[in-house]
Amino acid sequence: MVNNDQQSLEHKLALLKQSYQRNLQAELTSLNQVLTDLQAHIRAAPLVEGQARDHRAQWDMLEDVYRRLHKLAGSAGTFGFDAIGHQARALEMSLKRCLENSDKGQVDLQLVDVASSQLQSMLTELVPSLQQTPTTEIKPETGSSTVRIWLIEEDAELGRHILDQLTNFSYAVRLFSSVPDACREISLEPPDILIVDVMAGVGHLSPLQALTCPLLFISDCDTFDARIRAAQLNAHGYFLKPLNIPQLVNRLEQLLQDRQSPPARILVVDDDQQLAAYYQLVLEAAGMQVRILDNPRHIIDQLNSFKPELLLMDVHMPDYDGPDLASVVRQYDEWSSLPIVFLSAEMDLGKQVDALSHGADDFLTKPILAAQLVASIRVRVTRSRTLSALLNKDSLTGLLKHASIKSAAINEIARGYRQHYSVVVAMVDIDHFKAVNDTYGHAVGDVVIASVATLLRQRLRQTDMIGRYGGEEFLIVLPHCSAEDGRKRLEDIREYFSRLRFNQGEQEFACTLSAGMVCSVDVIEEDRERLLVVADEALYRAKRGGRNQVCQ
Ligand code: GH3
Ligand code: MG
Ligand code: MG
Repeated sequence: MVNNDQQSLEHKLALLKQSYQRNLQAELTSLNQVLTDLQAHIRAAPLVEGQARDHRAQWDMLEDVYRRLHKLAGSAGTFGFDAIGHQARALEMSLKRCLENSDKGQVDLQLVDVASSQLQSMLTELVPSLQQTPTTEIKPETGSSTVRIWLIEEDAELGRHILDQLTNFSYAVRLFSSVPDACREISLEPPDILIVDVMAGVGHLSPLQALTCPLLFISDCDTFDARIRAAQLNAHGYFLKPLNIPQLVNRLEQLLQDRQSPPARILVVDDDQQLAAYYQLVLEAAGMQVRILDNPRHIIDQLNSFKPELLLMDVHMPDYDGPDLASVVRQYDEWSSLPIVFLSAEMDLGKQVDALSHGADDFLTKPILAAQLVASIRVRVTRSRTLSALLNKDSLTGLLKHASIKSAAINEIARGYRQHYSVVVAMVDIDHFKAVNDTYGHAVGDVVIASVATLLRQRLRQTDMIGRYGGEEFLIVLPHCSAEDGRKRLEDIREYFSRLRFNQGEQEFACTLSAGMVCSVDVIEEDRERLLVVADEALYRAKRGGRNQVCQ
C-alpha cells in the first residue's frame, strides 16, 4: 500500500512539475517581454528633466520584474530547476540594489540589457534542467489502523480469556498455542506486538530475537534467571500470572503511542498556489494532514476548524505579509503557542530576524528539499506535542488536565452554537471507587483509572476531547454528535468497562461507571455556560438511579 502511495505521489509530483515548467516558461517569456518594453521605453524617452511620470512608469516596470523574480527564485529550486533558481536569485539581487540606490531618474539601459540577456539564458537553461528530477525520498509515518496483537499461550482457556479481554480494548488478537505455530506465519503478516507465555515458548524462544515488533512475556515464574532471559530476548515487558489485563493494556498503549499518534496537521499559507500544492503533496506523502489557506482573511476560522499543529507560511504575500498574519494569530490566546514556520525566498538576514520577532518559531529558506522540509516540520510538531503534553496532560492517564479540558469544552461548545452543529458533553465517573481503593489499594485503583482513560481514547473519535476532570471523573466533549449518537457511544463504553476484569493477586474484580450527558441542541445558546452543570446533574441522577447507567 505504501508503495502504491509512493508511486502515486511520484506521479502527482511529476504532473505538478510539468505544470510548473509550463508556467515557468510562460513567466520567463513574459518577464522578458516586460524588459523588452522597458528597453523601448527608455530608448524612446527624451533625456530631459520634467518627465517624472515616464520615469515612474519605468521604475514600476523594473519593480514588477524584481518582485516576480523574487517569487521565481524561491520556487524554481523546489521543483528541481536549480540553475534557474540561482540565476533568478542573482538577478533579483542586482535589481534590488539598483531599486534601492537609484535617484529615480531614467532606468539604466545597460542594466536592463544585461537583465534581458540573463533571462534569455535562463529560458535556454529550462530545457536541459527538465531532465533532473527533484528528490522526494520521504518515509511515510506509519498508519494507525487496527493494532494486531499475537498471543502465544498453550493453556487454551487462559488464552481465550486474555483474547476476550484484549478484544474489549479494540485490538485485533490472534491466538497461537506454540512459538513454531506463530513463527510459520510471522513473515506473512507480522503483528504489531507479540505476547508470549514463557511456558509455551520453552526451548523455542530464540527465533523471537529476530523480531522487529515489541515482545512481551507472561509467566508464573518470578525469578531473576527467568527475567534476565527475557531481557536477553529484548522483551519490552514481563507480566506475572494471574495476569492484570489493564496493566498489560497500559503497557501496550505506551508501546503503541508513537504508532497511534494522529497525523500531524499542517496549515499552509502561500500565495503561490503551485508551491502550496507542492508542500501539500510532500507533507501528505510523509503521512501528515495538510490544508491550504486560500484566503488569509479566514485564517482564524481555518485554525479553529482544522486545528493545525503547525502553520507553514510564506513571508511575502500580496495583501497581508506573513509576519502580520503571525501577529494576528498570536492575538488569540488559544493560538499563542502554535508553532509558526516561515518559508520564504527572503535571504535578507535582517528581515528574517524581523519575521521571527513577530512570533514565528523558525525560518526556512526556499528552495527547500522535500526531505528537509519534512524533517524540519516533523521535529517541530514532535517537540510541540511533547511540550504541550507536559503542560496539559495528566501523567497517570495521558488525558487533558482539568483546566485544559474545561477550556477546550467551553471553546468547542461556543463554536458549536456559532457554526450550528451539535455538541455532546458528558461527565463519566467510576462507581464506588473509594471501595476499590479501600479493598485493593491505591495502586490498583490507579490501574482502574488508567483503564477508563484507555477505553475512552479507544472508543471515541480522534476529534473528540477527553480529560481527567477529577480523581476518577472524566469530562468528554463530542463535536458534531447528536444526543442519540452520544448516548450510544456512552452506553458502549459503559458496557465494555463493566466487562473488564481487574486483578489483585488471586482476587478478580469488576467495576462499573456512570455517565451524565447533555446535547447542546437541548439547551438554548444563552445557557451554554450551564452545559457542564447540566451534564453533572445528569451524572448525579445516574448515581441516584443505581449507578452503571447513562442519564441524559
Ligand atoms: P460514587 O459511585 O458515588 O462515585 O462513589 P465513589 O466512591 O466513586 O466516589 P467518591 O467521590 O466518594 O470517591 C472517589 C475516590 O477516588 C476518593 C479518592 O480517594 C479516590 N481518588 C481520587 N484520585 C485518585 C487517584 O489518582 N488514584 C486513586 N487510586 N484514587 C483516587
Ligand atoms: Mg465515583
Ligand atoms: Mg467522583
